[in-house]
Amino acid sequence: MNKKNWWKEQPLLISAVQTTKGDSNWTLEDYVVKNGFNTEQLLHLFGDGYITTFFPERDEQNLTEYLKKSRKHGIREIIYVNTHVLDLETSKNHPSWCQITKDGTPKVMYQIYSGVCVNPKGDFHKDFLKKLESLCKLDIDGIFMDGPVMFSTGCYCDTCRAAFEKRYGHSIYEATRLELQEMAVDTCTQHLKEVYELVKSINPNIMVYINNSALRSDITGSNTRKVYDYVDMVGAEGGFHGAWMGTTGLWHLSARVKHLEGIVDDTLKGEKPIITFFSANHAGISDYPHTPAEVELAYAQAYGNGSNIWFGPHFPAKEFSKTSAASKLKEMNDFINANKDIFAPSKTCARVAVMWSQETSNNYASSIGDSDFVAAEKSGFEDRGDHYEAIFSVADMLYRNHIQFDIIDEQSVLDGSINNYQSVIMPTVACLEDSVAEKIASYVQNGGNILGNFDIACYHADGSFAGESKLAKVFGFVGKPQVFKGMNMSSTYYFQEKNHQLIENISVPKFPGPILNVKWDVAQDVEVIMKASVPKKSQYEAIPLDKNYPALFKHKYGKGTAYYISGTYAEYVANVRNVKDYEKIIKSYCDITSKPVVVSDAAGLYEVVLRRQQDRFILHIINLTGAMERPIERVVPLHNVEFSLNLDGFGIDKEYTLRSLRGAALQNININCNEISFSLDKIKEYEIIVIE
Ligand SMILES: [Zn+2]
Repeated sequence: MNKKNWWKEQPLLISAVQTTKGDSNWTLEDYVVKNGFNTEQLLHLFGDGYITTFFPERDEQNLTEYLKKSRKHGIREIIYVNTHVLDLETSKNHPSWCQITKDGTPKVMYQIYSGVCVNPKGDFHKDFLKKLESLCKLDIDGIFMDGPVMFSTGCYCDTCRAAFEKRYGHSIYEATRLELQEMAVDTCTQHLKEVYELVKSINPNIMVYINNSALRSDITGSNTRKVYDYVDMVGAEGGFHGAWMGTTGLWHLSARVKHLEGIVDDTLKGEKPIITFFSANHAGISDYPHTPAEVELAYAQAYGNGSNIWFGPHFPAKEFSKTSAASKLKEMNDFINANKDIFAPSKTCARVAVMWSQETSNNYASSIGDSDFVAAEKSGFEDRGDHYEAIFSVADMLYRNHIQFDIIDEQSVLDGSINNYQSVIMPTVACLEDSVAEKIASYVQNGGNILGNFDIACYHADGSFAGESKLAKVFGFVGKPQVFKGMNMSSTYYFQEKNHQLIENISVPKFPGPILNVKWDVAQDVEVIMKASVPKKSQYEAIPLDKNYPALFKHKYGKGTAYYISGTYAEYVANVRNVKDYEKIIKSYCDITSKPVVVSDAAGLYEVVLRRQQDRFILHIINLTGAMERPIERVVPLHNVEFSLNLDGFGIDKEYTLRSLRGAALQNININCNEISFSLDKIKEYEIIVIE
């Protein structure tokens, strides 16, 4: 009875060839098996193209034979099923399966497909369940759903129109944005619930997971928290990296994994595994592979943060096998297979968290990350910040300072997980429900530390303006916020007001302020560390000094402390990039408010992640130092890098020994109970130190 589900038995290495072009037998025998994968997400066997559907009459025999062959090799088979698009012929034959836009035409996706309506009362859903039932009676190991996607702009098909009217009591044509969003999310969730229940009723050992995105608003209706109960593994397209360099950093797979880890139950117990979808080609360029260095970094960031990897070229496996990326793939799979115990369930040791707010993302003004489902969209409000950009910008500052962090959300605040952290950064978290704001206040009251900025907590969860900040008493705000918008990146300046640890590392006592700022009157017990000037009208106008207002301040609240920056500093850094002083303030904030888990201060862009298992620690060091461009072709090795670790408070006390797994020599080891220091002679792309 207590036998583990197969997907929790070992680290998963999932091959996911994303095209039907090529020879399926070759793909199984010469690619999946020979490259050390233990699982396959099977798409290439059916149909024609990138997005396929299982038809029982057409595909059953073929699939049964394929399953027999893969069984011989011990490969688990997860079947790809598409639930988000239809080809044009199918959509013509089944008009009721289509998602319909407000003007009455089918929703077009990727130029050549129609979007699917998955309303559980609709025809597509019923037909889908029928096909799924036949599929689940075969000897398969899992179902991967590519979708569902219900756009938050609304589906106006007959089924959705009727369902909407019944639910809201008025026509969908008079719907509010929030009603359409709620309808899309609930439709996807209910569809998944019924799918999950059907699959489990036939065979509970069939794993179900879906294509999803982390750190994004609910534009596709698929909300990771809402569908959590109806998946066996939580995944996101963290490894769909465009070849362009965005404002959100060079390579941001880690942040998406960290978000998923914040959502799943106890990762040390491996309750629900995490998976990162890594497109083996650059996102948006289907036939051009990543470099070997980028393949290694993808593995390092995924497994280093406790995720499995799903590896998917969008061109034939035979063609991919001839690329230099393929030999790196085999090397990484072999390494994971040889060190399964290292990649067995583990838990992050971070003491700093960055807060992601789903409500702010949905209802304030947040740009939307690129993924396979939606093209990137920019936020549209001129006097608001951009939560999405702010999150990735802060993550980038933390990587660059080698500060380990986790990502939490509103639910983590409500369920008390926030109390696992000594300090929290809340980048442009504008929308907060009252209950979440109250919990954050009591977190600070009881000794926690927060860093807020701009119009923090000035909006309700639905995006309506609250008039004042819900965290006013915590930060020491008085009255109403007044927004200042500068004309450009040098309209406002921040000035040092007094000496303080928080700004002891800034480069100059006066540096440019963000374009957007909020002016607050502040309580008497607020300690103002810097002030801001009101915006200039011209770059060549003298800085007005007579109306300065508090820009950086500190307020004790109960046993904890709230720090505040008046502007959208993270968005400013993401776009302007030349002003490093904010990064220095963030580093000082973390140093002051939390005991660092790992301290390392060499020049270079490398991420450190300390994780723990039952009775040992594993330190992952991921080196992204390169030529400051994408793709990353060669990583610059780092030499003689020093580390010191503080292992207090994790309940493991023993005499530790250290070893490295990927070639670095450990030097100058000093172990004093839970304080450990050492240096590494050379760090290439990825190094792992086991402390046991
Ligand atoms: Zn519909």
